[in-house]
Amino acid sequence: MFEFKLTAPGQGSAPSGAEEQLYDLIVLGGGPAGLTAAIYAGRARLKTLVLTGYLPGGQPANTDVVENFPAFPDGVSGPELAQRLQQHAQRFGARLELDEAVGVDFSARPFVIRTPKATYQGKTVIIAAGAVPRRLGVSGEERFFGRGVSSCATCGGFFYRDKEVVVVGGGDSALAEGLFLTRFARLVTIIHRRDELRATKIYRERALAHPKIRFLLSTVVEEILGDQTVSGVRVRNVKTGQVSTIQADGVFVYVGMQPQTELFAGQLALDAQGYIISDRRQRTSVPGVFVAGDVQDPLYRQIVVAAGTGAIAAMEAEKFLGEYPDVSV
Ligand code: NAP
Repeated sequence: MFEFKLTAPGQGSAPSGAEEQLYDLIVLGGGPAGLTAAIYAGRARLKTLVLTGYLPGGQPANTDVVENFPAFPDGVSGPELAQRLQQHAQRFGARLELDEAVGVDFSARPFVIRTPKATYQGKTVIIAAGAVPRRLGVSGEERFFGRGVSSCATCGGFFYRDKEVVVVGGGDSALAEGLFLTRFARLVTIIHRRDELRATKIYRERALAHPKIRFLLSTVVEEILGDQTVSGVRVRNVKTGQVSTIQADGVFVYVGMQPQTELFAGQLALDAQGYIISDRRQRTSVPGVFVAGDVQDPLYRQIVVAAGTGAIAAMEAEKFLGEYPDVSV
């Protein structure tokens, strides 16, 4: 069992004076991108604060096994990888806070980051706030979310021992988590809106061969049904128009990710999907504010890529501080 040991907001060795709250670098986000940035920044001897959010570890913390992070030929559990990254960042001196930005001001340096417990100032900032699972937007989803509808099989899969579950989506997440759910459920029905799966071949092969998994292709979920608990989904075949009901005790929604950028709208340039726009050096539209990981990546969204952009962002922040060390405090 791996546990995060962070400083709770306003506790522990958290400094209180204005001077102490000034950091060379503030990293927003405690997933692979943010923690890799903190490793690099710590080794560069930058005074670094990481605001991890309240669920530290990023997406790996909710992932059963990571099979494609280099140097782990037998795979590594997502929570273990997340914890190793955290330890690695702390080893080089980064301060990790279980806290979350609720307001930012990038209009002047030092940049200001407000959390519910403190106000911090950063000479530079790296945004590594990640992405969160998208919702389907159908009737019944909100009502049952967390009570039979979920986007985290590793959190709730255990409750579906010998039950029937539905997974919505046709990408890597849907198939990987569908495969994970076969450990518990007696039947996993993967419902995908097209007749072709988006997931990579390795997941397609495993899922298609699995005796507990069945696919409903060219099918959309129109409603999540239930009274006190989820009882199934109403689906429509997009080719025939036929409507039917699939019995299910749980519904797992994996229809892609949405970048967490609401906080930055109006302060940084975002693209039409809400991703932060950056250049090859991870620079945003505001000099001194850099970005890394899924919050700027609609294409690859891999742990190793997130870590790589985190490293670039930290190296660029260090360079920026060398060129523009002065801030008016
Ligand atoms: P994704 O690749 O964007 O796939 C989302 C899936 O949901 C697609 O099949 C999409 O259908 C479907 N979808 C989207 N909106 C929908 C809607 N409104 N109704 C019904 N279906 C909808 O997202 P993901 O699977 O979460 O993967 C995200 C990224 O993480 C990817 O880059 C993936 O490779 C990566 N990932 C990697 C691993 C791994 O390598 N171990 C594991 C998990 C995730 P269409 O196909 O028709 O667009």
